Amino acid sequence: MFYSIPEVEYIRVSNLDEALQLLSQYGPEAKILAGGTDLLVDLKVGRCRPKVILDMSGVKDLRYIIDDGDKIRIGALTKVQEVVESPVVKAKAPLLTEALSELGSWQVRCMATVGGNLCNASPAADSAPPLLVHEAKAKLTSKQKTRTIKIEELITGPRKTALQSSELLCEVEVPYDEELTRAYSYIKLGRRNAFTLSVVSVAVAVKVVNERFKDVRVALNSVAPTPVRARSVESFLVGNAVRRERVEEASELVLKDIMPISDVRASAEYRRHVSKVLVRDALIRALRRSGWVGGG
Ligand SMILES: Cc1cc2nc3c(=O)[nH]c(=O)nc-3n(C[C@H](O)[C@H](O)[C@H](O)COP(=O)(O)OP(=O)(O)OC[C@H]3O[C@@H](n4cnc5c(N)ncnc54)[C@H](O)[C@@H]3O)c2cc1C
Repeated sequence: MFYSIPEVEYIRVSNLDEALQLLSQYGPEAKILAGGTDLLVDLKVGRCRPKVILDMSGVKDLRYIIDDGDKIRIGALTKVQEVVESPVVKAKAPLLTEALSELGSWQVRCMATVGGNLCNASPAADSAPPLLVHEAKAKLTSKQKTRTIKIEELITGPRKTALQSSELLCEVEVPYDEELTRAYSYIKLGRRNAFTLSVVSVAVAVKVVNERFKDVRVALNSVAPTPVRARSVESFLVGNAVRRERVEEASELVLKDIMPISDVRASAEYRRHVSKVLVRDALIRALRRSGWVGGG
């Protein structure tokens, strides 16, 4: 029946080793349950039909936030609200704090995990743009081996990831750079002000030296099959003087980096228009945070 969970074998997993063993045994027939905020909906509407659910919500091994000096390591089962409230993340990667505090409601954030948000591979995932800006990495582990890939390579399409069926996302590594953390912004445009998926979101971080852009990172969600970096905008600005006109010109270039579609939340045409506006506004907001008082 629609909106009821079909019969499925359920195993409550108690540690990482057990999860890896079960994943290698069941392969594609198993589904991980982390916070369940996406998976339960998927089961109810029949978007997936696993034979067995491996409930990892009680596993503590992958629930941590560690400052490693030049990067923060976040265990995949860390709750989104734990990241939002983390003083380490706020000090070293405040863009992530800002973006994740826009994910759903407090109740959703207290259940949802960072790993689940990435593995669900929604083009609208709020964790993706800030992690793309940070050039974060994903640690994927199976019973046989561990490999590390860029977050950019993890999400390969709507609800598709580079994970093999025997692999778990175990950790997200978030490199930080003090200068980049000073000038950042996340702007999320939804159909209403709160608790909603984005129509378009933009994450930005900039590094300015002698009034010139030294480093520019721009990433968007909901404008392509996967969250994307706006490399045309970035490469236009690097080396340029910090001027409002340059920012305006750069934001037009975002059209080269995106491929929006029309869906229930917005038309492709609207998304193209607001992408330009949001990239401009996010860059200006980031520059102002760094002390820029330029025109406009
Ligand atoms: C009311 C509501 C509002 C929401 N609003 C937003 C929003 O504004 N922004 C937003 O981005 N999202 C939103 N979401 C979506 C959702 O909350 C997030 O995507 C959440 O982060 C998913 O995490 P989870 O732990 O609940 O994942 P789960 O539902 O447990 O899992 C999601 C998928 O990832 C897989 N998975 C989970 N963890 C791992 C792992 N470690 N390794 C391998 N595979 C794994 C699961 O098998 C499943 O396929 C909303 C959801 C609801 C219900």
